Amino acid sequence: MSSVASHSGILVIGGGLVGACIAYGLARGGTAVTVLDEGDVAFRATRGNFGLVWVQNKGVGLPAYAQWSRDAAALWPAFARELQTLTGIDVHLEQPGGFYLCFTEADCHERERSLRDIQQAAQGPYPFQMLGRSELRARLPAIGPDVVGASYTPMDGHVNPLKLFRALRAACLHHGVRLQSSARVERIEYGGDGFTVTTQAGTHRARRIVLAAGLGNAALAAQVGLYAPVVPSRGQVLVTERLQRFLEYPTNKLRQTDEGTVQIGDSVENVGYDDGTTFDVMQFMAQRAVRAFPLLRDVNLVRAWGALRVMTPDGFPLYEQSRECPGAYVATCHSGVTLAAAHALVVAPWVAGGEMPAALAPFGSARLRGAEKHAMYVN
Ligand SMILES: Cc1cc2nc3c(=O)[nH]c(=O)nc-3n(C[C@H](O)[C@H](O)[C@H](O)COP(=O)(O)OP(=O)(O)OC[C@H]3O[C@@H](n4cnc5c(N)ncnc54)[C@H](O)[C@@H]3O)c2cc1C
Repeated sequence: MSSVASHSGILVIGGGLVGACIAYGLARGGTAVTVLDEGDVAFRATRGNFGLVWVQNKGVGLPAYAQWSRDAAALWPAFARELQTLTGIDVHLEQPGGFYLCFTEADCHERERSLRDIQQAAQGPYPFQMLGRSELRARLPAIGPDVVGASYTPMDGHVNPLKLFRALRAACLHHGVRLQSSARVERIEYGGDGFTVTTQAGTHRARRIVLAAGLGNAALAAQVGLYAPVVPSRGQVLVTERLQRFLEYPTNKLRQTDEGTVQIGDSVENVGYDDGTTFDVMQFMAQRAVRAFPLLRDVNLVRAWGALRVMTPDGFPLYEQSRECPGAYVATCHSGVTLAAAHALVVAPWVAGGEMPAALAPFGSARLRGAEKHAMYVN
């Protein structure tokens, strides 16, 4: 008979960015945590993302998401400092504000309308500016003539997402989190006094579990009375060789990293579980990047990849505790970098047994029941 590991603390299922942030937040609050992760064979948005801490234009159709994103971004500086103090890893957070580049006047008008709607609906400050060509050129001297204007908000920024993930894992280990890889969860059973979780590598029991398995949440949620109809949305990303610093701000279409490379992205494609790359999409993104910043014309590309976003039907996050199986929680989103600090500092105390924060209440699954169309959204 195989042995059963009993946990007095919480099992987090999924060790990507969302699971790592929640595990870290739980452990820093004194909860014993074990993370069960499928391992290197899994789809992992965490290892393929664009690294933006992005607030701009989030919340169209759900003002609470604008506030959640803005408040999450505001938690980031202290969070980054905390990770560095604990682990020595600088995640290279910069929050100088960010630009959305417009190639047509119509795009600028649409952008302004959309940001104004969000500003009016959001509680609290939601600053933004629309910039014409000459104002934009003063802020981004390398901008190309095809860019007619941009929106700017001071709330946006970026980090090095791989250093973030490394720092989170180190911080988890510092606080005694047990990280178990090659442990794909196959089955979860609820027995009134807790959960029996069966993985490839053994069986675990715990009174609380958190489903943070990205795309894996869709199948796991149904086993504990939760509903998480997430689907993949592919994004392709290109990376250039290292360049002298020419871009002091992140933009929606490209950003210069702390290492000097330029990340160009990211497509939004509905192609199922295919995380490959395609020539036509890469060509389109490269050409658009050269239109935005002509100095990129002669620069070498050194890497390209595809990765799968974790999308709910309306594109907004999902946070919920099961009514049928109390003690089972689900947490998923398509902006796990932006929301990282909030997942550690706000979501974790809730799944540890605290009151649900008011900020999370709009993100239950009731809004998704009957939703048929999946939003295809970026960042
Ligand atoms: C191209 C692209 C660009 C992006 N750009 C940004 C950006 O600029 N800013 C931003 O905020 N966000 C961005 N994102 C989104 C961000 O990367 C994700 O929100 C975040 O990585 C989601 O983390 P996750 O932990 O939910 O999922 P994942 O990273 O997919 O991790 C899921 C984990 O669960 C595990 N797992 C799955 N099933 C099981 C199972 N049954 N049992 C055990 N473990 C399991 C896997 O092993 C995996 O480690 C981008 C994503 C993509 C793809």
